[in-house]
Amino acid sequence: MKTMKELPEIFKDWEAVIGLEVHAELTTLNTKMFCGCAQSFGDEPNTHTCPVCLGMPGALPVPNKAAIESIILAGLATNCDIEKETMFYRKGYFYPDMSKNFQTTQGPKAFCMRGHLNLNIDKLGAKERTDIDLNEDGSYDTRIGIERIHMEEDAGKMIHVGGSEGRISGAKNSFVDYNRAGTPLIELVTLPELRTPAEARAFMQKLRQVYLTLGISDCSMEKGSLRCDGNVSLRRHGETKFGTKTELKNINSFKNLHDGLEYEIKRQCAVLEDGGTILQETRHWSPSDKKTIVMRVKETADDYRMFPDPDLAPFSLTDEFIDGVRAKLPELPDEKIERFVSDFELDSSDARALVADFEFSELFEKCASELDKSQLKKLSNLIVNNIAAHIKDKKCSIKDTKLEPQHLVEIVKLASDKTLNSNSTKKVLEAVLDKGVDVAEFVDNQNLAQSTDSSEIDAFCKQLLQYNPDKVAAYKNGKTGLIGFFMGQVMKHTQGSVDPESANELLTKLLNE
Ligand code: ADP
Ligand code: MG
Ligand code: ZN
Repeated sequence: MKTMKELPEIFKDWEAVIGLEVHAELTTLNTKMFCGCAQSFGDEPNTHTCPVCLGMPGALPVPNKAAIESIILAGLATNCDIEKETMFYRKGYFYPDMSKNFQTTQGPKAFCMRGHLNLNIDKLGAKERTDIDLNEDGSYDTRIGIERIHMEEDAGKMIHVGGSEGRISGAKNSFVDYNRAGTPLIELVTLPELRTPAEARAFMQKLRQVYLTLGISDCSMEKGSLRCDGNVSLRRHGETKFGTKTELKNINSFKNLHDGLEYEIKRQCAVLEDGGTILQETRHWSPSDKKTIVMRVKETADDYRMFPDPDLAPFSLTDEFIDGVRAKLPELPDEKIERFVSDFELDSSDARALVADFEFSELFEKCASELDKSQLKKLSNLIVNNIAAHIKDKKCSIKDTKLEPQHLVEIVKLASDKTLNSNSTKKVLEAVLDKGVDVAEFVDNQNLAQSTDSSEIDAFCKQLLQYNPDKVAAYKNGKTGLIGFFMGQVMKHTQGSVDPESANELLTKLLNE
């Protein structure tokens, strides 16, 4: 294939149409969807099975009430209408990982219909879209419609041995583990309203935040308890009909979702501009090859022979039940962002960064109660920049570090009254994260407190300027970059123990005298 164009170039002529299908296992429930078997992950194969989840003839399913509550929570939290009259259907399915030979799922009407999520696409993501008004901080807001969220059950797991990469081709033996069969699963389907890979990624991230807040799933993309399929097509600007879509199956990370869709858009554009046609295919994104590979071509719509399950009575949810679930709704991410902006006077981008990770906002709130309003910006910076970078680097979470909220409160206080400059603040924070050191003791032992005696620095700066008259003249003639040279000398002389900000201020003042 010819070299492919980059997104901004493509989006001058084409519009991408993207829709997601997102599966979430309700991992926090104790039992499966239609039987009393325990939900497990990583246990001895086939130790959590019974006649119902093995599909034995005559075994009768009983719906898990807690699972219905979970999906209603998900629907309310994503602005869906709750459908009171629904029923379960049987969807024809033949593969050894589901011994019933059908999947129990919902038909045309799901428990949750017609919802939406509001997204904020950050500055970086905004580069992928040029036809939209940006906020002051370079981000933009958009709303994505949700078609439905329905309830279904997961299949078991196949393990293929003897082939390459555990795939079935070339395998000598195949094993099946039914522990996962019958795990309650909710599937959310968006309207085809996403327009860029960045929007698709932001939707998944937002949905994950919402589900985690609700506590209905551990949402681990690594373990597969949260996974999605990405559907994408292209059309010319102004065209109202959709183009033919391809579907990327079983995407297991935000990055793969973004990169897979980006590749598909580039590939489809190259094919279309070359006069070719897009086939309705299911494709697989291979991050190592950096391309998508065809899995199968869909020539006709699949006919799953869906029909109402005669073993399961139709549902008629009462207002009382729905209101009872509504009363359990926790504070949702958008509400928390609003509260952080109004109560703590944070910028909305800071509030969003904190709320993006439950651990961040929890730590922030614990510390904020012991600090002044004027110190909260510093607190938020340390969390979303320094602590976030540390845990990303160590591939861990805050609870795996030695940091306690009290440590952070002390550090913020010392940084706010300028006892610690930005370098020393980082040093202390790292020592606390790694070893849980006593803050006051560490500052003392390492001699990190900056001298409050500014007269010494003052004298040094004045001398520095006296010894370098040519550089001072050049600075005054417009070579303002020379401030870097003077700063370097000051930092060297003081071995980094002065606050760079105040040193810079002082030098600028002296140079402009
Ligand atoms: P299928 O029957 O192939 O599963 P659906 O109509 O159920 O297709 O839609 C699946 C997902 O694909 C939805 O999220 C929907 O918004 C999206 N979608 C549908 N048509 C298109 C299209 N032409 N381009 C991109 N996405 C689409
Ligand atoms: Mg579909
Ligand atoms: Zn069972």
